[in-house]
Amino acid sequence: MTTAWKSEPAAPVTPPNLRGAWAAVNIDQFKTNVRILDQHSQAKRLCAIVKADAYGHGAPAMAKAALEAGADRVGVATILEGVELRRAGITCPILLLSEVPVDSAPVLVEYDLTPALFTQGLADAIAQVVRATMQDPHPVHIKLETGMGRVGLVPDEVADAAAYIAKLPELRVEGVFSHFACADEVDLTPTHRQHEVFMSSLTTLRKSGIDPEIVHISNSAATMCLPEYHHDMVRPGLAMYGYSPAPHIDRLGVKPVMAVTGLINLVKRVPKGMAVSYGHTWTAERDTVIASVPIGYADGVRRALSSTGEVWVNGRRVRIVGRVCMDQLLLDLGPTAEDAVGDQVWLLGGVNEAPDADEWAAWANTISWEILTGLGNRLERILH
Ligand SMILES: *Cc1c(COP(=O)(O)O)cnc(C)c1O
Repeated sequence: MTTAWKSEPAAPVTPPNLRGAWAAVNIDQFKTNVRILDQHSQAKRLCAIVKADAYGHGAPAMAKAALEAGADRVGVATILEGVELRRAGITCPILLLSEVPVDSAPVLVEYDLTPALFTQGLADAIAQVVRATMQDPHPVHIKLETGMGRVGLVPDEVADAAAYIAKLPELRVEGVFSHFACADEVDLTPTHRQHEVFMSSLTTLRKSGIDPEIVHISNSAATMCLPEYHHDMVRPGLAMYGYSPAPHIDRLGVKPVMAVTGLINLVKRVPKGMAVSYGHTWTAERDTVIASVPIGYADGVRRALSSTGEVWVNGRRVRIVGRVCMDQLLLDLGPTAEDAVGDQVWLLGGVNEAPDADEWAAWANTISWEILTGLGNRLERILH
C-alpha cells in the first residue's frame, strides 16, 4: 500500500537490514539541537552529556557530533563510558559525573578522565598515581552537595576538604559543580535554595584557596529556563536529544533525533473471539487483521505498552495489542486493512504523527529519559 507520506520518509527506509527493525539517528538534527542550546546558553562552554550510550543514541558518534557542533567537552557517568570514548578517538576533556571507586585511579590517569571529586580516598589515590607515574597534575572537578541529597561535599565539609585538596600538588582543581534536583518542576523554590547553598560553598572554597576556572550546575531544565545559573558551563543531556524535561519548559526548537522503526513481517486475519500473545490478555472483539513487527521489550519497547501503545503505519495510528513480547509485537490493523508485509511502522519519532518518547513515557508511567536510555543494544543504530 503506497501513500503520499511514504514517499518522503524522515528517516531512511533501511539499507539491507537483517532484522526488520532499527533505530535511525539523525546526526544533523542532533547538531542543530546542540547549537540551539549553546546559543541560548549564557555560559562560554557546553559539556555535552553522553552517558548511558548518549541516552541510547550511541555515545562515540554523539560525542563527536556534539564537539563538531561547538561543545567544549563531554560528560559521562562511569569510567568505562569514558574509556569507550577515548578508545573511539575522542580527545577532549571527559568529565565523570558519578562517583568512581578509589581503585580506578590508575585508569582515570591513564585515560585522562576528569572525575567528580568529593572523597579524600579518591584525592589520595589520584595523587599517588600521579606521583608514581610522574604525570602532570590531574584535573578534577569538586562535587558539592547542595540539596539533591545524593553525593558531594556537604557545606560543613567544604572548608576542610578544600584545605586538604589545596595541599595536593598532584591535583588540579579545574572545576566545581553541583546538580539540581527540581529544576524541571514548576515551583523553583528548591532550585533557588540549592543555588544559594552552591554559592555559599563556592565562597568557602575560594576562602580556602581554591578558585576553579569552571563553575557549573545547569542540566537541561536549567539550561533552558534559568540563564542566571549558567555560570561557566552548562551540562544538557536530554534536550540535546530533542526533548523538553517537562511540558511547561519551552523546547527552544530542539527536535527528537532518533526514530525507532520496523517493517511488518506478517499480516493475518484473526476471527472475532480469538486471543493473541502471551497470557491471552487481548481478544479480538471483531474479525480483524493483525500484523506482527520484529521488535520487542528486549529492544526497549516497554512491556507496559501492551494493548496501550500505538504506532504510526500507512498514515494512521494503530494500537499494539496483546503483550509486547521479547522480540515481537502485534498490531490491530482493523478489519479493512490493506497493509502488507514490508510496510514501514513508526514506533517512536521519525514522523510528526508517530508517538514520541514523552508519549511512551505516559503509557509506561515513566519519564522520557528512561524510555530513551532503555532502548536496547540489540537494536541497530543507523546514523544518517
Ligand atoms: C545526567 C546529568 C545531567 C544531564 O541531565 P539532563 O536532565 O538529561 O539534562 C547533568 N548533570 C549531571 C550531574 C547528570 O548526572
